[in-house]
This record gives sequence, structure tokens and C-alpha cells, in this order.
Amino acid sequence: VDHILKHLEQQQNAMLKMLREFVEHESPSTEKTAVDRLGRLVATELRETGAKVTAHRSAVTGNHLEARWPASAGENSWSLTARTVMLLGHLDTVWPMKTISRMPYCISAGRAYGPGIYDMKAGIVIGIFALRCLRELGLRAAKPLTFLLNADEEVGSASSRVLTENLAQRCAAALVLEPSAGPRGALKTARKGVGEFRIRVVGKAAHSGLDPEKGASAVIELAKQLLIIQSFTNGAGGITLNPGVIHGGTRTNVVAAEAEAMIDVRVTKQADGGRFENRLRKLKPKDKRTSIEITGGMNRPPFERSPAGDKLFRTARELARTLGIDVTEAWVGGGSDGNFTAAMGVPTLDGLGAVGDGAHAAHEHVIMKELPMRAALLAHLILNLAT
Ligand SMILES: [Zn+2]
Repeated sequence: VDHILKHLEQQQNAMLKMLREFVEHESPSTEKTAVDRLGRLVATELRETGAKVTAHRSAVTGNHLEARWPASAGENSWSLTARTVMLLGHLDTVWPMKTISRMPYCISAGRAYGPGIYDMKAGIVIGIFALRCLRELGLRAAKPLTFLLNADEEVGSASSRVLTENLAQRCAAALVLEPSAGPRGALKTARKGVGEFRIRVVGKAAHSGLDPEKGASAVIELAKQLLIIQSFTNGAGGITLNPGVIHGGTRTNVVAAEAEAMIDVRVTKQADGGRFENRLRKLKPKDKRTSIEITGGMNRPPFERSPAGDKLFRTARELARTLGIDVTEAWVGGGSDGNFTAAMGVPTLDGLGAVGDGAHAAHEHVIMKELPMRAALLAHLILNLAT
């Protein structure tokens, strides 16, 4: 039996105890005070593994935490070099405050449930225990390590993106502790890019009974434009979109003067994002009395497969085999901060966090017995990459 795995299997209860505490410290992206409270707790745990922790202050979101472990070779080598290995995760969740009172942390049939448990508080615990285990077994990585935990991933990472990219620039690999994919915990080797756009149509109001011809309906115009936009996905491989939110008009007897739609766009190739955006910005109103305004843009670039990323996955798969598990890879539509690091050309492996299901959903949970296994896989990966 692998000594790292054996050591971590003895820690399963300690992992669950920490996980419960993290889950019960609710941390919605929009609640700075709450996210910072969790941040302080996580920082304490990170320091106990020998890390130096810096809180990068953010006025609008919670503070972003950066933990750093020195290289064993070269005394006190805290500085990041191009050989550094980066762990990446986030403190925030999509769940509003007090969700915990109707969706409390609980255990049933080998699963632990709770808001944000799978996405991605269990990932934070896995990271902490992997590093704690290396320390306890006297296995220090030869290269320095950094673990960045941002506070705004679930709202697009606008505040933390620069920090992520600055750190990633100096790293040889990025290991992302977002949840794995599917019941068997596949690692994520590609993700779609994500964009968000707002289409706003301004028309002209009029009485719908007395003089409808004097009005130009923004609602009708928006409906026509949405069908045109929908057609941009035809034949252009890998583009999908969802006009998830739509607003318009004031009353049934008033021709609508305004209407708008929010559109989520997913692309598999960087160039598709640009092409889509160009076509959107060139939209012309069908009714000349209306006008169209487009705002927003592509947010996360796609995380495309690369030879270096493939090599990183193969390394992880080999290490998993020595632990007796067979890991597969998955390509997913959801974005993460791994999209930023991968698009910069940094070999990135995502989905190294928990095995479970129900991200952003009421049945969100993790498989308890997989926690030590995933931490062991991460510890081996760190040793392999940072030696
Ligand atoms: Zn996440």
C-alpha cells in the first residue's frame, strides 16, 4: 500500500471535520465579510502546513489568498521561479447566506452534503491535506509551491484574474482543485470559453389601441434579433448560447420602448469567441425605428487541449495507477480559472478536487472515501512535478 495514501486514509475524519467547518462558514461571492471570515480560517490551516500566506486585498470582493511554500533545495527559497507548481482554487460559492439553515451539512450513505461542498470547499481541504501530508511524512518538494485561492471565481474572476495570470506566468504547471467530472472523478483537460453579452433594444412607445402604428416594439425587435443570434451557432462547430434572461416592456397596452436579453456563450476555440462577438456587434435592426446596443464580451478564453497539458494528464494517470485507480479525462462546458492559465500556455490540469455531484444544485455532495484518495493523488503529483 502506498504510504502517502495510507497516511491520508487515517486522516479521513480530520478531513471531514475541516470540510464541515469550511461549509458552515458560508461564503457567497457577493458577501465580502463572510468570504474574508472563511479566508482567515483557511489561512490558519495553510500556515500550519508551513506556508507563508498573503491576503491580496480587494475592496469589492473578498480578499484573495496566496500561500507559498519554499523550495527544499536552496535555503529559504521563497521566490517563485519558472519551475514553480501552482495550485489554484476559490473560496467563494454560488449559495446565498443562510442557505446552510435549509441545506445543512449532513452525511448519508457515504456522502457529505452541503452548500459549496463539492464546488469547491472539498477541493480546498484536499489541497491542505496533500500539503500537510507531505510535511508530516518529511517529503518536501524541491521546488517552491504556490496555492492561490481567489474570492470571485463564481462571478467571473474579474478582481483576481490579474493575480492568477501574474502567478501563472512564473509556473511550470497549474493544478486546479475544482470538482472532478462524473461519478468516476475524471480530470478536466479542456473547457469551453465563456462570454456574456447584453443585447439592449430601444424602440418607441405608443398606445397599443389608439395608434399602434406610431410605436416601434422593442420586444418584437429583440425576438427577431434573438433568432438571428441563435443562427450564429449553426455550423460553427462548438459554439452554444443561451439567452437565459430577458426583460422588456411595461404594460400589455403599451408598445414596448425597451427590451433586453442576457446571453451566455460557450466556445471551444479562441477564434470562435472573437468571430461570434464581431457578428453580434454588426447586428442591424429589422425595424429602422429601433436601435440595438451590445455590451459585454468574452470573459474566459477556452481551455484548449495542448501537448503539454496532455503530458501532465498522462503523468497524473500513471500516478493514479500506482494508487490503484484508473482516472480518465473529460472535456467540459463550464469554465474555471484554469481557462486563464491554459490560455497563457501554462500546462494545466483541472478537476483535481472532489469526486461527487450537484455543483450549484440542491443535491451538492462529495463521496467521502474519495477524499483521501484525491489528496494522495495531488500529493504524488506535487512531488512528481516539484522534484
Ligand atoms: Zn468552482
